[in-house]
Amino acid sequence: MSELITYQCELKEGIHARPAGHIERLCNTFQSEVCWKNIRTGLQGSAKSALSLVATDTLLNDDCEITLSGPDAHTAASELSALLKKLPQFEVVSAEETQAPAGYLPRSLRETQLSFIQGSRISGGVAIARPVVVQSLSFDDIMARAPMKTGAAAEEKKALKAGIEALKQAKLDALESKVGVEHDIIQAHLSIITDSAFQEAIVHFIDNGENNWRAIVLAAMDFCEILNRSSSKYIKERVLDVLDITCQLLTTVYGEHALPQNGLELSAPSIIFADSLTPSKFLSINKKMLAGMVLTATGKTSHTAILARSLGIPTLTDIDFSMLNLQPQQDIIIDGDPAILVTAPDEQVLRYYRNEMAVQHTMQQQMLSNVHQAAITADGHHLEIAANIASFEEAEAAFNNGAEGIGLFRTEMSFMDRETPPDYAELAELYTRVMACANGKPVIFRTFDIGGDKPVDYLNLGDEENPFLGYRAVRTYPRYRELFAMQLKAILSASATGNAKVMIPMIASVEEIIWCREVLESVKQTMREEGLPFNDAISLGVMLEVPSVIFAIPEMAEYADFFSVGSNDLTQYFFAADRGNSQVANVYDNYASSFLRALQFAIDEVHRAGKWIGLCGELGASKDFLPLLTGMGFDELSMSGTAIPGVKHALRELNFAQCQLLALEALALTRSAAVKAALQAPAVKAESQKPILAPEFILFNLDAQDKNEAIKKMTDNLWLHHRTDSRERLCDDIWTREDSFSTAVGYGFAIPHTKSDHITDSTISMATLETPITWGDQQVETVFMLTVSKSADPNAHMKYFSTLARKLMKEEFRNEIKNADSVDVLYNLMTRTLDV
Ligand code: PEP
Ligand code: MG
Repeated sequence: MSELITYQCELKEGIHARPAGHIERLCNTFQSEVCWKNIRTGLQGSAKSALSLVATDTLLNDDCEITLSGPDAHTAASELSALLKKLPQFEVVSAEETQAPAGYLPRSLRETQLSFIQGSRISGGVAIARPVVVQSLSFDDIMARAPMKTGAAAEEKKALKAGIEALKQAKLDALESKVGVEHDIIQAHLSIITDSAFQEAIVHFIDNGENNWRAIVLAAMDFCEILNRSSSKYIKERVLDVLDITCQLLTTVYGEHALPQNGLELSAPSIIFADSLTPSKFLSINKKMLAGMVLTATGKTSHTAILARSLGIPTLTDIDFSMLNLQPQQDIIIDGDPAILVTAPDEQVLRYYRNEMAVQHTMQQQMLSNVHQAAITADGHHLEIAANIASFEEAEAAFNNGAEGIGLFRTEMSFMDRETPPDYAELAELYTRVMACANGKPVIFRTFDIGGDKPVDYLNLGDEENPFLGYRAVRTYPRYRELFAMQLKAILSASATGNAKVMIPMIASVEEIIWCREVLESVKQTMREEGLPFNDAISLGVMLEVPSVIFAIPEMAEYADFFSVGSNDLTQYFFAADRGNSQVANVYDNYASSFLRALQFAIDEVHRAGKWIGLCGELGASKDFLPLLTGMGFDELSMSGTAIPGVKHALRELNFAQCQLLALEALALTRSAAVKAALQAPAVKAESQKPILAPEFILFNLDAQDKNEAIKKMTDNLWLHHRTDSRERLCDDIWTREDSFSTAVGYGFAIPHTKSDHITDSTISMATLETPITWGDQQVETVFMLTVSKSADPNAHMKYFSTLARKLMKEEFRNEIKNADSVDVLYNLMTRTLDV
């Protein structure tokens, strides 16, 4: 019996893997053979194989003939017709659709009319590089690793069957817990694994003398070749799925270590796309080639996020890249500040970002040039600015960045990613090297904080339902007393060569710190007996991460010499919101009044006990929080080394008395939005008197392609000379004026101007342009930009504007500008003209 169905494809993306999976699953319940023929392409294949179906390259509006032949052809045809009619529209989520309403994007960037995908920031900064999806190796890479040995065909087939079964079962298990797109994708992968044509092709290669490895890869490559011929980009992208399944099947058949860590061996500057990376995987990447990362499901204070920030690697989260058309050869951009991803930048956007990277680099260099000056507010209050590190290399970088000490050495990193724990000699050597690098500055060694999201296999801590609430850090020390004592001995030995301190993570009760103190004393005793040198007065500190500590400070202070707030964990335990889960990021709220009051209470308690208190969580690097934390009375802030130059600079511009007032004000507020607004208001700056005109604001022969670029470059220049903290907002203010009327005033001149909250000292900037640009309906060669502070004389801005306009009426003045051949000539001319 035979039946024919005609079908016109209504799916926007054609018959891609997921609809093919639906068709294939149904067809495999029929006894009849089902042959699918695409009339347009002439390609045909069995509808019982999803891959063969996809390979027919059936696209939107293609007419197809489906022939069913077999005993149940009649009923099968009607079931298949019914399915085809109701095939859900598995449309690809386009870049546009994934765009959340844009967060704050600087106007200058919006002017480039870029299209982007909104994510959330893990680490700021810009990266331009090629995308690398950490998922699969290329087929050639995989083939190059094929084992030489080939068993008898029967043996190979047996291993293949077992592998396919195991992988299938794993996918079926995964299906149960997944919903939505993720569910659909696993389903599609399942249909590749169980695809009869795929399996037959593998067996065919085995019969021809290949081993499983080569047979699997050869069969997969054949299918991918067909997919690659499709005119649909979407279908072409399914190659990745086949590649993914190939790798999974190989590791199932040949064992977990059959393939190297996929995609982490970077050979060119890259932006990595991954769902998440463990800290150890991240650490294994060659950082010279790592320009940026998009980690779909990684929370902002997970350890990988912290590491990314400490190395200054722009990183985004909350972007589902599984549906993006990422071309491995095309540069893409991530901009960590507005947290956006640009997958197809045009020349204008690339130019914008190249300029932007150059400006950020200049600012960084500038910050670095004075990082070694002390961290003192303008009115003389000193706050120690220290670094968080995890390795010797980071210590070196931190001190080069102006760290006044190490406020947190995450020592557990040297316990991770290995088969056995480090020994005393290794640790003592490392710690002594760090002390030498510190050159007398304090180094706080946080004893190993293992557990939570930092598991270590050899300790066999066991699986836990709630690892963050479980067997972690100090809680494990009694069981691993020897290991703890060995680490203390290594720290004590380093203390003989400098200012080393010990800090214990995750302390929750006074008994725990008493126990740690006892172990410390007993290690000292042993060292005395062994004649080893150490600092008997070494400080012992408590990490304030568990909220119970806040209410036990007086008794703890009897055993502890200092406290340091681990704000990452403290916030997560305070709000019962997982620090690594971006879905509860709104609950994890450092602006909440309750949290701030808890901090203030802790600071006051510690000071009452005559001890000092620092903060070493991510909050320490926040520019928003700096005035508040300073005003609240922290003695030290410790942060990633890369944040130090900027924080030290910002601190020097603060007024401590005003920071204290700000703290009082913020603590009296009851809504986190109000706290946020108070922290972002620029009221705590020290007063300064800078001249309105200076040679550095005269840009001679500026290379600007359009009005937007001219305004942006002139505003950037103000930022580089510390006249604005928010060049983006200042730019917005300039554009507001520009939007209501063009400021081109004739004769090739434009005078953009604004009275703004975002300029700290009123400034007149000037630029002569390399080539004329269009400004409204005029051509402009020279730009005067007036940025007047809101606190300035209310008439100042009009005064300069009208003086300039009047002068420009005179041909002689215009010629003087045109003929000027240097900044000096222009500066003198302007000083005379404006009488400043
Ligand atoms: C913290 O919890 O804030 C902290 C500094 O420790 P870690 O991030 O290593 O847990
Ligand atoms: Mg912690």
